[in-house]
Amino acid sequence: MNRLNIVPFVSVDNMMRLVLHIGVERVLADLAGYIAADFRRWQDFDKTPRVASHSEVGVIELMPTSDGTRYGFKYVNGHPKNMKEGLQTVTAFGLLADVNTGYPLLLTEMTILTALRTAAMSALAAKHLAPAGASVMAMIGNGAQAEFQALAFRAICGIEEIRLYDIDTTATTKCFRNLGTSGLKLTACKTPEEAIMGAHIITTCTADKQFATILTDNMVGSGVHINAVGGDCPGKTELHRDILKRSDIFVEYAPQTRVEGEIQQLPPDHPVSEFWQVLSGSMPGRTDARQITLFDSVGFAVEDFSALRYVHDRLRGAPFFEELDMIADPDEPRDLYGMLLRAKAAQERSITLAV
Ligand code: NAD
Repeated sequence: MNRLNIVPFVSVDNMMRLVLHIGVERVLADLAGYIAADFRRWQDFDKTPRVASHSEVGVIELMPTSDGTRYGFKYVNGHPKNMKEGLQTVTAFGLLADVNTGYPLLLTEMTILTALRTAAMSALAAKHLAPAGASVMAMIGNGAQAEFQALAFRAICGIEEIRLYDIDTTATTKCFRNLGTSGLKLTACKTPEEAIMGAHIITTCTADKQFATILTDNMVGSGVHINAVGGDCPGKTELHRDILKRSDIFVEYAPQTRVEGEIQQLPPDHPVSEFWQVLSGSMPGRTDARQITLFDSVGFAVEDFSALRYVHDRLRGAPFFEELDMIADPDEPRDLYGMLLRAKAAQERSITLAV
């Protein structure tokens, strides 16, 4: 990985090999550590709400940031209708680059990595916001993100029981099967009300391009922590507005969440805390047992930067990448066209030899 013109590329296959080599729960805990370290140096980062291109059926987004030493971006889509067509709702890839040269350091798949980083971020927030001793989580929406969420909450928060609910029972069956050997106690529920019974943490992770009401106000009792993952786009929310008014709300980056998160339903000056403030000790997290805390997750570029940094670090000496000839590298930097001419001459020589 020392030749600057050769960029390590982590395919889906190699990402799976890397994650299995390290262990899924270890990766989730490591990612939470990388995210926490980057959130603690929040002021180092260039921050901007992601650049979103919306259509009738979904969104395509670019998520850039830099800490002055490295630059990262993720390309990600969100298409709730995809699942019915046999496609992923969310797919992604991303790039890490060296600010000093501008050269890419890593190109990687990020569909799996996004599921891992989202779950790690959710569990990291819950570790600081959920009630002490939380052991039961309701998981509403049992799609692609769900198992990652369940495992992150076990690895990072010590959750022991997951109560699963999805409008589509085949999704719940899939989750039950995939988590069957995890050691988590699993309960498949017939209604969202049943799922939240006895839960200390409620995770909503559904996909629908509308203002949905996955949780109504009367479903949420005092003292719970809500991890709202699925509402992450203008016009796409999961919680009834009245729940928000009773909750202490924590967000990643307020200028982005005000447009995309659950809080798009509230006036723009409604008080929220940014989670980095809790990590750095400048704002309190949970202060009393009866408080409802809400992590209004939308996914922010710094989390993807942390995930890219983690993968880049883990590739040192590990065979989980291919080499991509991605940067043109003439011997004399200004002789880019000459490089093309030499390639043409080489092609012509090889044709002559073949004849
Ligand atoms: P998915 O399509 O694989 O799964 C979504 C599941 O929600 C499906 O099983 C569907 O049946 C279920 N569902 C839909 N409406 C429901 C309802 N009313 N009640 C119960 N279940 C319902 O999607 P996914 O990849 O798991 O993503 C889930 C959501 O999380 C999406 O909206 C996605 O955009 C969002 N997401 C957010 C972040 C973030 O950082 N906040 C990251 C990744 C994905």
